Amino acid sequence: KELPADSILENSRRQVKDACFSYTNPKQTKAPEVIHVSKEMASVLGVSENDLSNELFTKIVTGNEVLPNTKPYAMCYGGHQFGHWAGQLGDGRAINLFEVEHNNKQWAVQLKGSGETPYSRTADGLAVLRSSIREYLCSEAMFHLGVPTTRALSLALTGDEVLRDMLYDGNPAHEKGAIVSRVSPSFLRFGSYEIFAARQDHKTLKTLVDFTIKHHFSHLGAPSKEAYIQFFAEVSERTLQMIIHWQRVGFVHGVMNTDNMSILGLTIDYGPYGWLEGFDFGWTPNTTDNQHKRYRYGNQPNIGLWNLYQLANALYPLIEETEPIETILELYKTDFEAKSLQMMKSKLGLEASDDKDKTLIEALEDALLLTETDMTIFFRNLSNLKKRDGKKGLEIVKDAFYVPNEVSDKIAQHWKDWFERYDFRLEKEALSDTERQLKMNAVNPKYVLRNYMSQLAIDDANKGDYKLIDELFQLLKQPYEEQPNHEKWFAKRPDWARHKVGCSM
Ligand code: AMP
Ligand code: MG
Ligand code: MG
Repeated sequence: KELPADSILENSRRQVKDACFSYTNPKQTKAPEVIHVSKEMASVLGVSENDLSNELFTKIVTGNEVLPNTKPYAMCYGGHQFGHWAGQLGDGRAINLFEVEHNNKQWAVQLKGSGETPYSRTADGLAVLRSSIREYLCSEAMFHLGVPTTRALSLALTGDEVLRDMLYDGNPAHEKGAIVSRVSPSFLRFGSYEIFAARQDHKTLKTLVDFTIKHHFSHLGAPSKEAYIQFFAEVSERTLQMIIHWQRVGFVHGVMNTDNMSILGLTIDYGPYGWLEGFDFGWTPNTTDNQHKRYRYGNQPNIGLWNLYQLANALYPLIEETEPIETILELYKTDFEAKSLQMMKSKLGLEASDDKDKTLIEALEDALLLTETDMTIFFRNLSNLKKRDGKKGLEIVKDAFYVPNEVSDKIAQHWKDWFERYDFRLEKEALSDTERQLKMNAVNPKYVLRNYMSQLAIDDANKGDYKLIDELFQLLKQPYEEQPNHEKWFAKRPDWARHKVGCSM
């Protein structure tokens, strides 16, 4: 091991000093049962179909057996939560089992919900079926959408019950315990570095940064100030890239605390996340953030930058110069402007350059906010519009309105005006209607994991029926394809699901 380990070998909750991780064993569970496996992920890891049906696989991915010569561990990290330094957090309910090398790629395999660790603080280290289904389905869906993300290998029941405060009536209730095995080249987060800077433990900080560069940014070469600056520049770029993808597909993370920001720019920690239904910059799925809405859709790019400032502060002791750091942070802002414009243009099928594109897009965003308008349906259907057919625009957008009958003449006029501009703008495009449609459909998904879809799968699973988990899993493997047998999932959120939100616990 190149990183310093905690010298205490027990799970008692404590402040762990001078160490990046603590050895800890997953909890034995009563009746482990795998209810879904990502075969795609398994094959990436080199796990054969035969292995998957072996009882040993079930035991490993539920923490009931530890492979010989491996030593599970939980990682130490801190973090800024909702804008405030929260001190030590760490893997409170995640345990890293081992690393796998396959096809020249390295992967860490981690269990989420397999019992207490030194970092569990006041909680139990467990996860319930509800939140595990949400993480399992969404991380694989994001992968197939082309969004950088941690992956999931398996979803299993533990056979144990877990006590949770129910969101809706506030009474504690028993729920089914579950474990997701998740996979990533690394689970290091911004908070992994911040904790050592906060403790002024610059020695461990340097060891960890050098380790990260050696294993995940090896093209940056030997440790040096220059390499540290370049490292920060790349983390900044990857973070921005990831967030632009979120904005493109309408994903709202919900808890962008620095402990949930991957150093590799991967989406990590699928807690109270949600998908935009009605397009709304102000929307957040996180009920605990309802007042300030810090992590609302429209604020995600700013929060990415805020989090990078925290990482910059953490890395400062190794760089000791503010200018290169400030240049990188400035670049995030200008790159955001450029990349976000590029991304929105691609959603509209615009390739030529036109200095009025920015205002055309702003006008569209204004229009989308006039009445609740489904983002996914709007952009997907937009590709059906042919050149010089702008008059049909209003008809097209109507399918995306949640309350079509209530749309006033004024709103209708607004849309007519916008489509007139779009129609005019399309004249500048060289591609045929068919070619443009193909390109648009490759960036505007037809199927996303709407909250009500997870909810239906959760309700069934709580009754022991896992068919819908598999149906959604299969559907979301091809989010950009037309799937005529699955057309029912290309639909607006039903009324009953209007104010239901996700829950992270
Ligand atoms: P999150 O808000 O999910 O990013 O979690 C913040 C911190 O709380 C992390 O250190 C988690 O490991 C920890 N945590 C969340 N849920 C649990 C749990 N059920 N048991 C122990 N620790 C938890
Ligand atoms: Mg977390
Ligand atoms: Mg979480």
